[in-house]
Amino acid sequence: MKIAVEGCMHGDLDTVYQTIQHLEKLHDIKIDLLLCCGDFQAIRNERDMQSLNVLPKYKEMKSFWKYYSGQEVAPIPTIFIGGNHEASNYLWELYYGGWAAPNIFFLGCAGVVKFGNIRIGGLSGIYNAGDYHRGHYERPPYNEKTIRSVYHVREYDVHKLMQVAEPIDIFLSHDWPLGITDCGNWQQLVRFKPGLEKDIQAGTLGNRAAAELLEKLKPSYWFSAHLHCKFSALVDHGKDGRKTKFLALDKCLPQRRFLQILEIESECGPFEIHYDEEWLAITRKFNSIFPLTNKNANFSTIPDIRDCRELVRSKLEARGAKPFEFARTVPAYDPNQSQSKGIAECPRNPQTESFLQLLELPYLLDQGTALTATAACDMPSLSIK
Ligand code: 5GP
Ligand code: MN
Repeated sequence: MKIAVEGCMHGDLDTVYQTIQHLEKLHDIKIDLLLCCGDFQAIRNERDMQSLNVLPKYKEMKSFWKYYSGQEVAPIPTIFIGGNHEASNYLWELYYGGWAAPNIFFLGCAGVVKFGNIRIGGLSGIYNAGDYHRGHYERPPYNEKTIRSVYHVREYDVHKLMQVAEPIDIFLSHDWPLGITDCGNWQQLVRFKPGLEKDIQAGTLGNRAAAELLEKLKPSYWFSAHLHCKFSALVDHGKDGRKTKFLALDKCLPQRRFLQILEIESECGPFEIHYDEEWLAITRKFNSIFPLTNKNANFSTIPDIRDCRELVRSKLEARGAKPFEFARTVPAYDPNQSQSKGIAECPRNPQTESFLQLLELPYLLDQGTALTATAACDMPSLSIK
């Protein structure tokens, strides 16, 4: 199959799809899948903008809303992870993953799906040591602090991904795995991006959790974005001879290297996105310790659910492994009518509800409210009545 990989989307879906269609015509090829490595900006309407952490000059609707409203349809299946510029309220609705728009699938805060026989995993957000051991306490509407922490990677999600034992073909992270520059031509990189040299020399550039995942999962490919440049590396995992081809790409701007087409050995198409059995079993097992306050999960209390895999297998056999259908939960942007009044919404997404019902799990995303969580975080000694 032919896969297009894109760096940071920043809401420029129209341009990226036009570029792909141009390449398809030019080379007489068909691209089967688009992978996007975060800063996707799935802004559905003006209210979602309140959850996007960007400088005021970047507060633009861009083009995702057209795909959300149905005015445009993504011409190829698209899978994305989140970065540090997102409609964080919308991504929270789809914490476990789901269709953000028809043919556009969000992998979730952490997630693994199958596309044909190719297994694709991903981790959303960026690493921040101070927030890594916290739970997911942020809820919309976000304040000055939570709008900046909501996208920080949490140990809970990384811990879930660390349980994946079956081989991963492709993995996506927004920021680069820590130390990845040691496995490529970093001298050339710093000539292009001198601002990175200090961090590279200090050994602080990148995501520590992603580096642990890279070492554990040893995927064939790892794609990232965030640093707005193209960089490739080859990670040799030693002993068993496994290698990871790493590629980071730029954001979508003229004359920038934001897109790469790759041929990946696979079964014959047509392909569709399917739930991954092992990942659903992990999700089911870990949901009982889902940390919904600023406290970390208690990993010593995971129930020993040996039948998780069996339950997931029988459920997927019964209903099939296709993800639940896209559902619109808020009105799409209308350029002729301003809807900027009101606060950012985060209703229960029917896809999330159906997914949890399938796994026989409770809906927890509206627990651990913003008030209690923020208060607990900022004023640990204050008890809220
Ligand atoms: P974003 O689009 O996510 O706001 O930021 C990306 C920009 O910030 C890029 O131009 C990138 O070079 C810079 N950047 C992000 N993280 C780091 C970092 O850890 N070190 C350095 N030196 N630059 C960074
Ligand atoms: Mn970024």
